[in-house]
Amino acid sequence: MSIKKAILTPFPIDKAYDYAVPEGMTVEEGAYVSVPLGTREVSAVVWGDGALKSGSDVKLKKIKSIVQLYDLPALPAVHRKFLDWVAAYTVAAKGSVLKLTLSVPKALEPPVTVTGYVMSDLEPDEMGLSPKAKAVLDVAQDRLPRRASELAEAAGCSSGVIKTLHQKGFLNSVELQAPPPCRNPDSERASALLSGPQTDCAGTLINMVKANDYSAALLDGVTGAGKTEVYFEAVAQALRQNKQVLILLPEIALSNAFLARFKSRFGCAPALWHSSLSPAKRKTTWRGVAEGQSKVVIGARSALFLPYQDLGLIIVDEEHDPAYKQEEGVIYHARDMAVVRASLGKFPIVMVSATPSLETMQNAWNERYKHLILPERHGGAVLPDIRLIDLRKDKPESRQFFIAPTLHTAITETIERKEQALLFLNRRGYAPLTLCRTCGHRFQCPRCTAWLIEHRRTGKLHCHHCDHYMRMPDQCPECNEEDSLAPCGPGVERIAEEVRAVYPEARIEILSSDTAITHDDLCATLDRIQNNEVDIIIGTQIIAKGHHFPNLTCVGVVDADLGLTGGDLRATERTYQLLHQVAGRAGRENKKGTVYLQTFSPDTNVMQALQRGARDDFLEVELKEREVAHMPPFSRLAGIIISGRDEQQVEDVSKALAYCAPQGDKIMTLGPAEALMYRLRGKYRRRLLVRANKEIDIQKTLKAWVGSVKTPSAVRIQIDIDPQSFY
Ligand code: ADP
Ligand code: ZN
Repeated sequence: MSIKKAILTPFPIDKAYDYAVPEGMTVEEGAYVSVPLGTREVSAVVWGDGALKSGSDVKLKKIKSIVQLYDLPALPAVHRKFLDWVAAYTVAAKGSVLKLTLSVPKALEPPVTVTGYVMSDLEPDEMGLSPKAKAVLDVAQDRLPRRASELAEAAGCSSGVIKTLHQKGFLNSVELQAPPPCRNPDSERASALLSGPQTDCAGTLINMVKANDYSAALLDGVTGAGKTEVYFEAVAQALRQNKQVLILLPEIALSNAFLARFKSRFGCAPALWHSSLSPAKRKTTWRGVAEGQSKVVIGARSALFLPYQDLGLIIVDEEHDPAYKQEEGVIYHARDMAVVRASLGKFPIVMVSATPSLETMQNAWNERYKHLILPERHGGAVLPDIRLIDLRKDKPESRQFFIAPTLHTAITETIERKEQALLFLNRRGYAPLTLCRTCGHRFQCPRCTAWLIEHRRTGKLHCHHCDHYMRMPDQCPECNEEDSLAPCGPGVERIAEEVRAVYPEARIEILSSDTAITHDDLCATLDRIQNNEVDIIIGTQIIAKGHHFPNLTCVGVVDADLGLTGGDLRATERTYQLLHQVAGRAGRENKKGTVYLQTFSPDTNVMQALQRGARDDFLEVELKEREVAHMPPFSRLAGIIISGRDEQQVEDVSKALAYCAPQGDKIMTLGPAEALMYRLRGKYRRRLLVRANKEIDIQKTLKAWVGSVKTPSAVRIQIDIDPQSFY
C-alpha cells in the first residue's frame, strides 16, 4: 500500500518530491494534482510511487499532502517517459520539461460554462422597446445562443441592454460550454484523386500506420508536388484506427488556406496550437487533447508537448525549418524530439520537405528512414526557371536602388499580365545601418552587439535583438551635423519605396513580422494576396513558407548572398533551403514562374546548384565537407553559453570552465570566445563549443563538467545540445 507519491512540479527542479495521499483519495501515476510548494499551491503530476523511491524516507508525518486531484485522465506513462527522456537529452531539469506539458494550468479546472442568451417566445411589444433593444432582438432572431458580449457587439449596444431584455423575459439564458475542437473529423470524406506516384507514397504511409509500430519516413518532393494531399491519407488512416494525430508546422506556415484544406478534407477544423491563441482557446485545446477528444492537432513546435491520450502519428511538415529549434528555456529541436516521441510511443512519424535537412537526408540515404519521392509538381505545373542576376554586371540604375534592370523588366511584364510578383529580402525595416556621412558615426544598440535598424513606419531606430529604440534624430548625435545621416543598405521598407517610385499604380504590400504582428494579421494579408488584391509583395521569410498563391509567377530575391555571411555551420544549407522555398512560391499552377536571384557570387556551389535544381549534388558535397571537418551529422556538438551582467564574472566562469573542459581523443572543447553577439539585452556572453564522437555520452560528460564549476548566481550557463545557431 502506498500512501506517499513522488510528485513532479513544473519548476526548474530535477526531482519529484514526496507528498502524502489524503485519506479516501486514490491517485494513479500520471494523475494531475495540486500540491503545496513553499507558500503556494501549484499544479503537478504524480511521477511515481514515493514510498518505493530511494531518498524518500522522510517521515510521513512531516510531508505535506496532496490538496486536490483533478478530474482528467492521467498523463500516459509513455508521455512521462518522453519528458524524462527530453530532460536527460537536453540536460534540463525534469520540472522545466514538465512545464512544457503543464503549459496551461488553468485547463486542469473543469471548463467553465458561460451564460448565453436566446430569444424567448414572448412577443416583443414594439412600442415599449428602445431602438437598441430592437437591434438586439433582430440579431437574436436566429435563435442561436450567444454570450451577452457577442450580442451587444453585434447590436452595437452595451451589455446592460441585454440584461434588461433578459429581466423582461424577451431573452432566455442558457448554459454554454465550448466543445473541444476537432472531435469528429471524418476520415472517409472524398480525398483528392491521387496520381500514380502520390498513390504509391500514400500507400506506404498507410501501411506504416496500420503496422502500429515505430517507423519513420521522409516524404520528399518538390514544392507543389502534393505532399500535403499524400500525408492527409496517413492522417485519415490513423483516424480510422481512432488515434490522435499531430501535424507540426513552423508557426508562420499555419495559414487560413492550410486550415481550409484540412477542413475540406476532414470536415472539421483541427485543434490549433500556436503562440497567439487566446487563453480560452488554449484551455479548450489543451483539455480536448488531454481527454483524448480532440483528434488532430496542427501546431507549432510546442504542440509536441501537449498531453495526448493516445497519439498514433506525427507529421513534421517543412522538417528542415530552423523554427523547430526552441532556443530559450529548455533548448530542444522539435523534429528530433518528435522522432523520439514516435519511437517511445511505437507509432510512425513522417518528415516532409522539398529541401530536407542534411541530417534527415543522411537518415534516408542510409535507410533508417523510408525515402518516399514525389518528383513532379501536381497537374503538370512545372518548376520555375531560376536565373542568376550577376549584380557586378547587371547593376541597379542608381546607388539608391537595389533592383537590377533585368528584374525590373520582369516585374513590369508580370504586372502587365495581371500576375503577381514577390520580392524577397530577409531584412525588416528600412535600412540595416545608419551612418553619419560627416564623422562616420554609426548607431548601435547600447545593450546589444548590433546596429540599430531604421524603421520609417515608426520613424525610429530599433534594435532587432531587444526592445531598445530611439527617435530618428535630425542631426548626428556625435558631430551635430544636420542632414548628414545616411541609410546604408536595404530593408523591405526601402525596397517598397523603390518599387513605389517605379510602379506608382501597383498595389504593394509589405509582409514582415512588423506588418503581421499577430497570427490573424498574417492570415488576413495572406488572404488578400490569394484574392488578388495585391500586385507586388515585398516580404521577409514570413512569406517563404508553404503558402500557395496561384497567380504569383515572378519571384525576385533581392540579396541572395545575405545568409551566407557569418560563418555558421549551416549557412549554405540554410541558404539553399530558404531560397529554394521562396522560389517554390512561383508558378504553382498552370502559369510558369520565373525566379531571379540577385547575387555578387553567381559561381558558388550553392548558387549554381539552385539554378540547376541540383539539390542532391549540393547535399552530397555538403555532407562530404561535414565529414572531412568532422562536424554533425558525423559528430555531436554542444554549445555552452555563459552570460551575465558583470563582464568580469562571465569571463571568470568561462575561464574556470575552460580550465577543466573535456579534452581528449574523442571529445574536444573550443573556446571560450566572445559570442558573436557579445552583448545581448545588456548581458555579456561567452561561448564554448564541445565536439564529441557519437559514441560518447555527451550529456553525462557535460553534466559532470558544468556541475563541477562554482558559479555565482548572477551568471547563467546554458547548454545547447545539437546547436543550430552560433550567435
Ligand atoms: P506540397 O505540399 O508538396 O507543396 P500540395 O499538397 O500543397 O503540395 O499540393 C499543391 C497543390 O496541388 C495544392 O493546391 C493541391 O490541392 C493540389 N494537388 C496536389 N495533388 C493533387 C491531386 N491529386 N488532385 C488534385 N489536386 C492536387
Ligand atoms: Zn538591443
